[in-house]
Amino acid sequence: LIGEVSDELGMESYVIGGYVRDFFLKRETPTDIDIVGIGSGIQLAKKVAEKLKGKPDVSVFKNFGTAMIKYQGMELEFVGARKESYQRDSRKPIVEDGTLEDDQNRRDFTINAMALALNKVNFGQLLDPFGGLADLDQKIIRTPLEPGITYSDDPLRMMRAVRFASQLNFTIELESLRAITENKGRIKIVSKERIVDELHKILMSQVPSVGLKLLHQTELLPIILPELTALQGIEEIEGQRHKDNFWHTLEVVDNISRTTDNLWLRWAALLHDIGKAPTKKFHKKIGWTFHAHEFVGAKMVYKLFKRLRMPLNDKMKFVQKMVLMSSRPIILSEDHVTDSAVRRLVFDAGDHVEDLMTLCEADITTKNPKKQKRYKN
Ligand code: ATP
Repeated sequence: LIGEVSDELGMESYVIGGYVRDFFLKRETPTDIDIVGIGSGIQLAKKVAEKLKGKPDVSVFKNFGTAMIKYQGMELEFVGARKESYQRDSRKPIVEDGTLEDDQNRRDFTINAMALALNKVNFGQLLDPFGGLADLDQKIIRTPLEPGITYSDDPLRMMRAVRFASQLNFTIELESLRAITENKGRIKIVSKERIVDELHKILMSQVPSVGLKLLHQTELLPIILPELTALQGIEEIEGQRHKDNFWHTLEVVDNISRTTDNLWLRWAALLHDIGKAPTKKFHKKIGWTFHAHEFVGAKMVYKLFKRLRMPLNDKMKFVQKMVLMSSRPIILSEDHVTDSAVRRLVFDAGDHVEDLMTLCEADITTKNPKKQKRYKN
């Protein structure tokens, strides 16, 4: 139908972006469909809506030159092909009308720049100027233009690159990785909300450590979540070492992710040890200790949520509680946290109790048989 309407308007139109990518990946067909018209996307949307059953409303975003139709559970987003240029201090581009090529040039990754033609004459033809299909095949994230320009223009793309790599289990090409590291400081012009959106998506991917390792490798992690980077490293005093709590955390996150799709439990797993960096001490008699790190960690959760402008609501409290619980055996041995308090925490976790227990179990990675026995009890 969109093709027919485009023909009537004498306009070319294409499906572009995520829909095309996921179609070739045979992923679940996305409900968000991006359509680009060479001309007015708003006019195209209005004409399409008139012809659809029930004549759905068109939401027009004049400032962005886009229009959206919600229809049968789908969101059809229409935009006129455009050319973008950027100013140094803003993610907001200066926009002018453009050709399909211009529109493909402004896309973030080759795999997101593919377009399928909708007009009758070339219906279904794939327009793939940057080899997106081959990159899908080789599982690689690559930018259409020079990576330095792509990431500097819109630094959110750095997070998107990591997120797609994590969601699709792709690798980011070397030049892109370098460009991200070089431009890491520009992440500061991206709103906290957008960063958190991408973090959520990384955490919700099948193996979140893929994305977390990339954030670490590109040096974005110390800017976004310095509390985690602080966990890295093993110190040795008098022949006594402690485990590397950063790499341990990644293992715990992957473990939890095998058993639960709950985003907040995954956050809790990610943050369960953050109190360990500031509480680390070496005692001549006992060795390494992280005394009361759960309590310090829970406070840090609050600060971290606040800094990232995440809502300080019941979800935050849930994560805090999980962090408090994260070393169940240690907590139980603290005088001021009684058994019933722990039971209350578990009760508050509601439907997630089993996952919660898995979280606690997953934390028990000691090879010391004595400790293992104590932990089991
Ligand atoms: P998902 O729905 O899984 O997030 P998607 O690719 O549909 O994947 P959207 O954020 O909906 O992601 O973006 C739609 C399309 O718009 C992308 O496929 C890409 O072509 C383009 N796009 C989105 N954000 C950017 C950006 N920051 N820079 C360049 N192109 C972008």
